[in-house]
Amino acid sequence: MPKFEYAPAPESRSIVSLRESYGLFINGEFGPGVDGRAFKTISPATEEVLAEVTEAGPADVDRAVTAARKAYEHSWSAMPGRERAKYLFRIARIIQERARELAVLESLDNGKPIRESRDVDIPLVAAHFFYHAGWADKLEYAGYGPAPRPLGVAGQVIPWNFPLLMLAWKIAPALACGNTVVLKPAETTPLTALAFAEICQQADLPPGVVNIVTGAGETGRTLVEHPGIDKVAFTGSTEVGKQIARACAPTRKKVTLELGGKAANVVFEDAPVDQAVEGIVNGIFFNQGHVCCAGSRLLVQESVYSDVLASLRRRLATLRLGDPLDKNTDVGAINSAAQLAKIRELSEVGEAEGAQRWSPPCELPVKGFWFPPTIFTGVSQAHRIAREEIFGPVLSVLTFRTPAEAVEKANNTPYGLSAGVWTEKGSLILWMASRLRAGVVWANTFNKFDPTSPFGGYKESGYGREGGRHGLEAYLDV
Ligand code: NDP
Repeated sequence: MPKFEYAPAPESRSIVSLRESYGLFINGEFGPGVDGRAFKTISPATEEVLAEVTEAGPADVDRAVTAARKAYEHSWSAMPGRERAKYLFRIARIIQERARELAVLESLDNGKPIRESRDVDIPLVAAHFFYHAGWADKLEYAGYGPAPRPLGVAGQVIPWNFPLLMLAWKIAPALACGNTVVLKPAETTPLTALAFAEICQQADLPPGVVNIVTGAGETGRTLVEHPGIDKVAFTGSTEVGKQIARACAPTRKKVTLELGGKAANVVFEDAPVDQAVEGIVNGIFFNQGHVCCAGSRLLVQESVYSDVLASLRRRLATLRLGDPLDKNTDVGAINSAAQLAKIRELSEVGEAEGAQRWSPPCELPVKGFWFPPTIFTGVSQAHRIAREEIFGPVLSVLTFRTPAEAVEKANNTPYGLSAGVWTEKGSLILWMASRLRAGVVWANTFNKFDPTSPFGGYKESGYGREGGRHGLEAYLDV
């Protein structure tokens, strides 16, 4: 098959004006941390230092929670929904106006291809604020009683895989329902959250309604354990999610957890192979596989195994890995050295346990953190690469003979966040969907997100839903 050569098509980064250092965003203003600690955030594609960011300590978290409480009591919770809606609409429009800048900033700090930050992340961020702006004055029609009340101050901790999108998933519903927030972005990707703080200023949001405290895991722990928090919302690893659940259990805090996944993407023999292969690629190589709902376990019906694998290998050979800011890039950089080490380690375990590893010929840049798209075949259900979340561009391939076997294998995981089904038979889709223990089941597509659609997991993938009418429940006193 002829392979096209693409000329470089870099997106200009001149639209982003990075500051040398960033303070904490508390009570509507940027300011220094109490104990003067800071850390650097780098571009994972080049290891270039992008900026220095303040590390919030306990005194800073306390200031942020106090500011959020004051804003909750004196302005935000008492404000009519239609007035809150105006702020959310304004924020959504500013996000649209600054979309290009936000996309470039996200790709710089996270390493994801600009094509994804530009076409997926940022449009969804704006959509989330638009959608929840629509709810702010209609909460009495959401099905939670005639006058649903907010909870108070929300402490929110988010990961690095979709930095601004996870912020939107957390902040938009919280504000729409009348809560105020203190949010901690991930240590490796704080820049778009800080840009969002500027957007709050631009939108004239009352001081203290949104507070952003940057820092590492310890800052997150201090925030979720702060006694002034009424609600905790966390997205991240199952391990940290369990720690948070334990810490909050003896308190009156309401908690929602969106944790890991090990989704099965199930391909039946009647599925159109090319379409399914696109779905498999999107399922596991989108965002370098740094996706909680990634289709990391491919289950292929035995009768079409060789066809699907041959097409998949051909398709992988056409993926372009490299500069995240190049508009032709399909696979960007791994977010951090630590994540790269974890992906390498689990891949080595896969080989040691007897699975066969394959990657297309692929030149990796010398600087930065990179891992080629990788497939493991000959994987059994007991292998660690079939059970543990790798959170990288690594696909484990298994086979099945009957739909019942597919269901059994798909559900054989401690997780339950998402699943995919590929078949031409509508009846089989419904049969599978009613048996798969996963919060989201995609049929003949994968990794499709929409603010109107609730998202969340079963089992060790966490509890609570984000998005849609169901997502409002997490921020209302019901
Ligand atoms: P973490 O769960 O450690 O990080 C998620 C967020 O929680 C970050 O903001 C982190 O801060 C913060 N945090 C860390 N420790 C605590 C704590 N004790 N209390 C409160 N907040 C805390 O994920 P990692 O980034 O360490 O990734 C580890 C693995 O987790 C990945 O390899 C992947 O398998 C999985 N993961 C899953 C995600 C999902 O959406 N399902 C998202 C991210 C990771 P900081 O970044 O500063 O450490």
